Amino acid sequence: MTSTRQPSIEAPRLLLATGNAGKVREIRELLAETGWRCLTPAEAGLGPLEVIETGRSYLENAVRKAVAHARASGLPALADDSGVEVDALEGRPGVLSARFGGASVGSDAERTALLLRALEGVPRGLRTGRFRAVVALALPGGQTIVREGTLEGWITEAPRGASGFGYDPVFELPDGRTVAELGAEKQEISHRAQAVRAMISVLQELAQENPRDRPHSTDLPHASG
Ligand code: IMP
Repeated sequence: MTSTRQPSIEAPRLLLATGNAGKVREIRELLAETGWRCLTPAEAGLGPLEVIETGRSYLENAVRKAVAHARASGLPALADDSGVEVDALEGRPGVLSARFGGASVGSDAERTALLLRALEGVPRGLRTGRFRAVVALALPGGQTIVREGTLEGWITEAPRGASGFGYDPVFELPDGRTVAELGAEKQEISHRAQAVRAMISVLQELAQENPRDRPHSTDLPHASG
């Protein structure tokens, strides 16, 4: 796992509106050079914030999560809503990727196994799909900005690779590797990396042109890591 250098505690703070450790790690790495200090909700001193992800689109869910976290913290908040869409399953699990199989399916490995079972007997040529991510930035003043990214590929017949998270071990790219076999290279091509990179110029402008959106360094407790 790559460790990411965090900017100094005087840097403007950005709340990452997610409890998904894989997303936090990737977004932190992608924003490491922007000068923003990325905090998880726990690091920002926020208690558990229930955001019901009942939206029918990634966009709706991402905006909902970002706005709820910006309101609760007074900080600009960045949310990701993402999933894997499988053509042979008419786009499922899609926005429901994190909950594929329902509440009784508790881990990424179990959801991945369930996906492979759903595709049993489907030939490689028909196992096409894509990862999709929508990233929403919500400002405390109410404005929201969204960016998105997609990554096309195929669902394998068995998991391969140990990096990444979620469905990475069963998502194969044109070069034959799964996303879980890419290691750090995932950040060069992933759906989330595309969406977050497209947001960087917005964040840079915000830090420079809108200093009132730069939270004061004593507003909230600081993260330790
Ligand atoms: P949500 O955005 O919280 O609804 O969760 C998205 C879900 O989609 C994750 O829990 C993963 O199961 C899946 N997912 C999203 N992005 C990725 C990725 O980069 N790799 C593997 N699985 C992903």
